Amino acid sequence: MRTPSFTVKYLNTLSCSLISLLLVSSQIVASQTHADQAEVNVYSARKEALIKPLLDKFTEKTGTKVNLVTSKGDALLTRLKAEGKNSPADVLITTDVGRLYRAKRAGVLQSVNIPEIESRIAAQYRDSEGFWYGLSLRSRVIVYAPERVKASELSSYTALANKHWHKRVCIRSSSNIYNQSLVASMIAHNGVAKTDTWLKQFVANFAQPPRGGDRDQIKAVVAGMCDVAVVNSYYLGAMLNSKDQKQVDIANKVKLFWPDQKGHGAHMNISGIAVTKAAKNKQQAIALITFLSSAQSQQWYGAVNNEYPVVSGVKISDTLKSWGTFKADTLAVEKLGDKNNEAVKAMDRAGWK
Ligand code: FE
Repeated sequence: MRTPSFTVKYLNTLSCSLISLLLVSSQIVASQTHADQAEVNVYSARKEALIKPLLDKFTEKTGTKVNLVTSKGDALLTRLKAEGKNSPADVLITTDVGRLYRAKRAGVLQSVNIPEIESRIAAQYRDSEGFWYGLSLRSRVIVYAPERVKASELSSYTALANKHWHKRVCIRSSSNIYNQSLVASMIAHNGVAKTDTWLKQFVANFAQPPRGGDRDQIKAVVAGMCDVAVVNSYYLGAMLNSKDQKQVDIANKVKLFWPDQKGHGAHMNISGIAVTKAAKNKQQAIALITFLSSAQSQQWYGAVNNEYPVVSGVKISDTLKSWGTFKADTLAVEKLGDKNNEAVKAMDRAGWK
């Protein structure tokens, strides 16, 4: 009776060892395949559809696999902070400079000085210490209803505070980082006191309490709720190129005006990219940034997002061509992050909801 039971036990032990052996070796095989294929892990605040095709092209060209995680900018920043040095992320992509600046301050990025990229991207569109780089440019512009407003009535952001525009202006809330960046640029150029005065009068000109996103401001102009709105240029571009004919029709009813052409130039912001401090695939991360700043990638990325390439000399889309050339503010975009706190406080003081 004892022998069979011993045999069963023995066989059980043997099969357990065999299974563990098989498991261990399969893990080794898996990790070898892992090591064989270079990869890079991307946290992106940019929607998948707007970045994935380009990441696929990078994989095609270099053989490096890209693992993409998309979420809201603030959520990704919180996650990077919580994960610390154990973060799997190698690269962070955001849709505004404010969050890149915050990520740098939070200590979750690292400086990478890449001469090849620095020669492609103008100094004002990247961090002065190499912690992040712009990938595309967007401007905050004025759109107006041509049947109620003549272009000759418009000039600068500052002028939108004049009595002429009383209850005629639409703009989204002060919690929106694009507005915070616009106000930060005014503080950088004109100081806090002048910006405070401007803000009070500007807020008094709002046609309605701020609500919705930039597209909603464009719709409000067309619906006659207001005569002018301040929005990022690519939202108008996206509506003009929408598959939804209603959006196209609305977008065609407004015109774009480049603000401040006799002053500092139109306010500029970036979407951008950075290497995380925890990056375990730093070389692949640098290769990806280099790829994304190449002329070919820049042309595709700009066209798909209705944005301007951050590298000069790259072809722009027909939509962007139709808006003509303009003078862009040359303020270093890192100043927008630097002045963000002051901007938020000033907007609060002015009662901008
Ligand atoms: Fe946006």
